[in-house]
Amino acid sequence: MTAPLAGKVALVTGASRGIGLAVSDGLRAAGAHVVRLARSLADGAADRQSDFRCDVTDAAQVDRVTAQVVQELGPPHIVVNNAGIFFIKRLEDTSPADFERAIGVNLVGPFLVARALVPQLVKRGSGHFVTIGSISDHLSFSGSAAYGASKFGLRGMHESIVAELGKTGVRATLVSPGPVDTDIWDPIDPDSKAGFTKRKDMLRAEDVADAVLFAVTRPARAAVTEIRLLPAGYSPRG
Ligand code: NDP
Repeated sequence: MTAPLAGKVALVTGASRGIGLAVSDGLRAAGAHVVRLARSLADGAADRQSDFRCDVTDAAQVDRVTAQVVQELGPPHIVVNNAGIFFIKRLEDTSPADFERAIGVNLVGPFLVARALVPQLVKRGSGHFVTIGSISDHLSFSGSAAYGASKFGLRGMHESIVAELGKTGVRATLVSPGPVDTDIWDPIDPDSKAGFTKRKDMLRAEDVADAVLFAVTRPARAAVTEIRLLPAGYSPRG
């Protein structure tokens, strides 16, 4: 059987670990050439894989890397805006710098990537733009003023992109997972605290990768605009 994404180029941000790494591996296993971006990756290339060191909050870096990708590989067929940070702080403990950091990585970064690449996809008349949101893009939690603001904002941007894409042939999907067992939880250590989903009960990064793969392998007539993914039996209010 032919690999469903053979001949396609997919760009994934925050691809050095966690969900971004699983999404990259999933897309590559499905046949795509994967372009991975993260701050801790060294520039390099392997079979159907290109890596770029890139901080998504830095407009000059995003413009330079995306221009190089377009020049060397053509406009990506799939873009996954995944890079993100997470912390839990009550409002009074959230410094202006904390708030700006969350908005910078989780919202300004995806905006810079979208601004650089969506027009390229539209010009070609095909492609898929995927945003990794969160349960926090539609539900609010205590300690989530900064993270929730960034993810609700991301959903707003996704919906605006869907409206602007119209019948261009480019599709956009927002994938909104509940808790996923990745390094992002290490500083919080949910297993030692009451009120948190235990790591063994969380989703796996591969579950999110499967959701992305599902969305981007639908026939061109079908637009999967949103996927909400939760650990089975999960109740956000405990
Ligand atoms: P990880 O902490 O495991 O990975 C985060 C990734 O983002 C890393 O590859 C990191 O790479 C990259 N990254 C962080 N800052 C930047 C930056 N400024 N520029 C480029 N890359 C950056 O987190 P997850 O895999 O868990 O999270 C991935 C996404 O999924 C995030 O958007 C998160 O909000 C979302 N999500 C996660 C959930 C969870 O429970 N884990 C639940 C719902 C959504 P590097 O440090 O090398 O730059």
